Amino acid sequence: MADAPRPPRVGVMGGTFDPIHHGHLVAASEVAQSFDLDEVIFVPTGQPWHKNVVTPAEHRYLMTVIATASNPRFTVSRVDVDRQGTTYTIDTLRDLHRDRPDAELFFITGADAVAQILNWKDVEELWSLAHFVAVSRPGHTLSVSGLPRQDVSLLEVPALAISSTDCRSRVSRGFPVWYLVPDGVVQYITKHHLYRSNA
Ligand code: ATP
Repeated sequence: MADAPRPPRVGVMGGTFDPIHHGHLVAASEVAQSFDLDEVIFVPTGQPWHKNVVTPAEHRYLMTVIATASNPRFTVSRVDVDRQGTTYTIDTLRDLHRDRPDAELFFITGADAVAQILNWKDVEELWSLAHFVAVSRPGHTLSVSGLPRQDVSLLEVPALAISSTDCRSRVSRGFPVWYLVPDGVVQYITKHHLYRSNA
């Protein structure tokens, strides 16, 4: 008898994406390759619980759509943008699990974010909804210290010292963000006058 087909393996790349940059895209691409993912869903947050984001979610969503359009394995979800209230990862994963009950989910997070994971809401349920893959990020130590090793995998990815904070700051100071973010995102930022006054 033929083996049953394996469930779809789906990455989940959550972020504020304010703006999305090549550090995000390389991380998602490397995890997709190393974990044999069929798809990576990028999920721009609504209002995150851990930081104050002033750029409207619709701008962040559209920049994410533009940045991921050229990769057939990348998609973008509106679950967090459309949900009322503060964004928590547990709600993201519950919604995606409801929409894709057949899929095995892999939540992708940077070394800085994974270090905080035990502070996330309903952390015990998080482990039951997804595997976690933490990727290296310049300036942060990649470690599973204190985390359940069976639920969190570590992956070294090409080091890109790019942050959204720095991109916003550069735009506000009149510096270019070409080659830090995809070309279409540069054009979107320019067209919509984003980040001109807030760093
Ligand atoms: P900000 O500077 O506004 O805090 P950010 O650059 O950290 O933003 P987020 O949208 O908050 O970007 O990041 C989403 C996810 O991508 C997080 O898990 C973060 O750790 C990871 N990430 C962001 N930048 C990089 C990078 N350069 N290399 C690897 N992972 C990254």
